[in-house]
Amino acid sequence: MIVVRTIPALRDALAKPRRAGARIALVPTMGAFHEGHLSLMARARAQCDVVVVSLFINAPQFNETSDLLAYPRTEARDSELAGATGVDYLFAPAAAEMYPEGFASTVAVDVPVDRLEGRRRGSAHFHAVATIVTKLFNIVGPDVAYFGQKDAQQAHVIKRLVRDLDLPVAIEVCPIVREPDGLAMSSRNAQLDLAERVRALALHQALSAAGDAVASGERDPFTVTQRARTVLDRAGVVTEYFELVAPATLAPVQQIDGSVLALVAAQVGSTHLIDNELLSTVTTAGSTDPGSA
Ligand code: AMP
Repeated sequence: MIVVRTIPALRDALAKPRRAGARIALVPTMGAFHEGHLSLMARARAQCDVVVVSLFINAPQFNETSDLLAYPRTEARDSELAGATGVDYLFAPAAAEMYPEGFASTVAVDVPVDRLEGRRRGSAHFHAVATIVTKLFNIVGPDVAYFGQKDAQQAHVIKRLVRDLDLPVAIEVCPIVREPDGLAMSSRNAQLDLAERVRALALHQALSAAGDAVASGERDPFTVTQRARTVLDRAGVVTEYFELVAPATLAPVQQIDGSVLALVAAQVGSTHLIDNELLSTVTTAGSTDPGSA
């Protein structure tokens, strides 16, 4: 695997395989790799000829400086893991490479970005995500880009970006990878102390409680949400939101019919965690996770 620091160097490296008709994959990340990231890379490896992983901590998408400073930076280890997963190029530019002096452009996708994660982080968060992803698409020119269902709202914004601006890239949204006890893998899990790690399980348990309620016939979103919130409250985590939304639009549902996406965010100690699960009125197991396929 080759580590590339500059945009011209990456374009040069990709020019020849592109001319030869190679299928190019991009996996955008902010590093601190875990099995979730590696699953995206492995899928890209299986489906494409050239795999590019970007590792860039995109400062403008952080709404709090403390969160940006606390974000794990483990490039040497990341580089080893990506190489072992069959990645061809790790694109790890400096901030000045991506945001040169005088940078003044923003890509704003006007799906409701002030709800859910956007309510806490501000709509500027998703504008910053759309901007950096557009830049990465323009730099790499991937045939396919891989994102995780873990960040469901982000995946929704990116799919809309690609559709609205006719960007010539296919978007693959990959299942959530979890720890054996159900906690969704996240770079932020490393910030949890032992007691917080136990409390963090409440997010998954709340989703399961909601799934159980739906499986047992409950169709009122408010009642289902209350059951989930009780689980979160008992665990002593600070719930930011628990919402049932339509999977295609992320609009809140008035009635549970077919599939609904349950989205949760909570503050565990000083760490912000999110998770989600697709709940269905038609399965017998109570819930299906698009992430556990
Ligand atoms: P990040 O480095 O946190 O920006 O994540 C990079 C990509 O990995 C995003 O598309 C995330 O949605 C995805 N991702 C993060 N955690 C997981 C997980 N547990 N399972 C699957 N994908 C994930």
